[in-house]
Amino acid sequence: MKPQRILVVGAGHVGLYAALRLSRKLSSREAEVIIVDPQPHMTYQPFLPEAAAGNISPRHSVVPIRRELKKCKIVAGEVTKISHGAKTATVQPYVGPALELEYDHVIVAPGSVSRTLPIPGLRETGVGFKTIGEAIWLRNHVLDRLDVGASTTDPAVRSRALTFVFVGGGFAGIEALAEMEDMVRDAINRYYPELSPDDARWVLVEAARRILPEVGPEMGAYTAEQLTKRGIDVRLDTRLESCVDGLVKLSDGDEFVTDTLVWTAGVKPSPMLEATDLPRNQRGAVTCLPTLQVVDGDRIIDGAWSAGDCAAVPDITGTPDQNGQLPFCSPSAQHAVRQAKRMADNIRASVRGSGLKPYRHKHVGSVASLGLHKGVAHVYGVKLKGWPAWMMHRTYHMSRIPSVNRKVRVIADWTLALFLRREVVPLGSLHTPHQPFDEAAATTPPRVATVPVPPVREKVGV
Ligand SMILES: Cc1cc2nc3c(=O)[nH]c(=O)nc-3n(C[C@H](O)[C@H](O)[C@H](O)COP(=O)(O)OP(=O)(O)OC[C@H]3O[C@@H](n4cnc5c(N)ncnc54)[C@H](O)[C@@H]3O)c2cc1C
Repeated sequence: MKPQRILVVGAGHVGLYAALRLSRKLSSREAEVIIVDPQPHMTYQPFLPEAAAGNISPRHSVVPIRRELKKCKIVAGEVTKISHGAKTATVQPYVGPALELEYDHVIVAPGSVSRTLPIPGLRETGVGFKTIGEAIWLRNHVLDRLDVGASTTDPAVRSRALTFVFVGGGFAGIEALAEMEDMVRDAINRYYPELSPDDARWVLVEAARRILPEVGPEMGAYTAEQLTKRGIDVRLDTRLESCVDGLVKLSDGDEFVTDTLVWTAGVKPSPMLEATDLPRNQRGAVTCLPTLQVVDGDRIIDGAWSAGDCAAVPDITGTPDQNGQLPFCSPSAQHAVRQAKRMADNIRASVRGSGLKPYRHKHVGSVASLGLHKGVAHVYGVKLKGWPAWMMHRTYHMSRIPSVNRKVRVIADWTLALFLRREVVPLGSLHTPHQPFDEAAATTPPRVATVPVPPVREKVGV
């Protein structure tokens, strides 16, 4: 019998784990696994704040897919369309014409993108915090602003450079803000005698009345208190209304200018899903059964599977609402990797003709790092603050990042930083690599055109 072709769209938390498990648990006679992603690595997003703060090398917070998925076929490109009716996907590779890939099973796992709002100036001024590129850029940019602040004699320029605004008080926003503030304080205290930590202004803008809902109201309130004690301006119940040319206008009437606005106000399922014929809910997420099969009302879509941030998966450990509707699993790595494993086992069962099992995982709670030696956690009903929570954050994520190779590298980074201190040098020139060469080329005098002189022929008299 011909091996079944399993196409995995996206090599993130869901895609990488599902492909790894399928390639280990199904023989090459049973299945061929093809994985498509425009990036050559899976990004371990929970480590982005530590990568931005310089505690971990950015290279070590990503997992190279070619190294991990040796038994899978890897296609470097973007899935631009899925016609599940015909069981084909269109892939745009890095170069060349689009490919049509046929499949028997598709795993739809392109994750999510930043959920933005039509706020004037946001697109031009803001930056997200979901990718390794954004984390590296933010680190270089923030450190670069310290040099601007330290070298200028103009107080207005300094104040603008040293004002950092984060919009959105969920996991990503709080961890990113707290880690960056910690890094900047450290850098100013050690290496910038021209500046004081009080020169840096940090503003957190959150539309709700609480932050960090993932750790519950009590620990969320504790986090807000800790951030305020560190001098961070926590604005709850406040919205960003405009940020044209860096002029921030808030719903409480306050206005100020900044060079740095980080948007971390939630995520939405990948817009790529619009180019599929798969059923989606009003949020744009692929509708799934607890078995991770895609479902349209009561009709199971044969051979289509989904999980992670792009999927609406009923949480069978939750309490149904008055209409009998179960809540959906939250978009988190905690669910994504576990769903990936359950889905891979169900696909294997489907290939072998045996029964499927539902995904069941009660969210155990969350841990968040708030800078070096600071954290907050609410896990299995246990609430932790400060150093123990921070240790738990590190231990938990160390156990979760895929591959022994990455674990060793991350531990080595942490150990080195313990003895040599973290690195706080900005490498902003990484973002404009052609500039020095361009400048050098601009100073080269243009080549003088030489007109060939015809040889002088002497008239020879006859
Ligand atoms: C800063 C930050 C911190 C976080 N911290 C935590 C935490 O502490 N705990 C926790 O549980 N969760 C955390 N999360 C959330 C968690 O990382 C996500 O829920 C998880 O990554 C979702 O997994 P996924 O596989 O659905 O998507 P992703 O891991 O984002 O993977 C999606 C993949 O699909 C690829 N892709 C996209 N479009 C296409 C396309 N058209 N074709 C092919 N491939 C495509 C992308 O390149 C990517 O590789 C954090 C998130 C962020 C941003």
